[in-house]
Amino acid sequence: MIPGTLAAEAGPAAGVRRVAVVGGGTMGNGIAQVFATGGFDVRLVDEKPEFVERALRTVAKNLDRVAKRQNWPAVRARAILARISGGADLSAAGDCDIAIEAVSEDFALKRKIFEALDGIAPAHAVLATNTSSISITEIAAVTRRPDRVVGMHFMNPVPVLPLVEIIRGLATSDATCALTHDLTRRLGKTPVEVNDSPGFVSNRILMPMINEAAFTLSEGVATRDAIDAVMKLGMNHPMGPLALADLIGLDTCLSIMEMLHQGLGDSKYRPCPLLRRMVRAGWLGKKSGRGFYEYAEAPRA
Ligand code: NAD
Repeated sequence: MIPGTLAAEAGPAAGVRRVAVVGGGTMGNGIAQVFATGGFDVRLVDEKPEFVERALRTVAKNLDRVAKRQNWPAVRARAILARISGGADLSAAGDCDIAIEAVSEDFALKRKIFEALDGIAPAHAVLATNTSSISITEIAAVTRRPDRVVGMHFMNPVPVLPLVEIIRGLATSDATCALTHDLTRRLGKTPVEVNDSPGFVSNRILMPMINEAAFTLSEGVATRDAIDAVMKLGMNHPMGPLALADLIGLDTCLSIMEMLHQGLGDSKYRPCPLLRRMVRAGWLGKKSGRGFYEYAEAPRA
């Protein structure tokens, strides 16, 4: 698909024009960017106006980078950015065809957002969550449209990674899954459907590795740099697990480990105490300026 044009072919997602993205953090701004690039009108909502501004600045910067790399005419990036309107009021989702929730990994918060979205979004709208580990079935149960609730798990960084893990809750309908698959393809990405289980597939496998890297560091088995070098050079991972943890956000990593531990009831998923201490200290990784590594750029919030 040519960036900036809405794919016109018929298909289950043909009626989708307007997308609400709730949460403008690490994931929300990337999700807004890929939908706007795909030709959709995007309403980006974050609880704080300054976070909305920050998200729009991040998208503008990222689009500039893509425009330079791909030799876009100057107007194209501006036209994509103009498709995103931002605000702090969830009522902006009142005319959306699909809402994608990307607020922090906290069930109580997501519950509040889904209850509100259910009252605000049109009856036909699909409500998707970008959760990394929380049960889609449980989120769907707080709405009056559980058949139209689905997991749409984008990967970080969203504009770069091709996968969207589609998670089917117990009540998710075939029509909702078909729409979500089609929509993902219209973004130029690849959907892979999995069932609803803690951490789904991606984080059931990835997060224990990151947690083990934190244990390896805290037990003094090797330095941070040595751990990351072993996994990059020896396992051909594009980045080491500790650098990846910083990119994801240590608070998000901890929440996912807690969800795996609680949901699967196996002590092998016990979160590393070092991870917990770092989150308590506010060392959340790249977004706060310090995690396993330190970052020169000003912290995001
Ligand atoms: P983040 O901390 O970077 O951003 C969360 C955003 O939600 C913040 O901007 C915050 O202001 C906003 N928010 C909080 N309460 C809100 C409310 N009531 N209304 C509107 N906005 C609100 O988190 P993130 O890393 O972007 O993660 C978001 C979701 O995506 C989580 O469920 C996470 O598990 C999932 N996820 C994260 C990654 C990753 O690598 N970080 C990857 C895949 C999925």
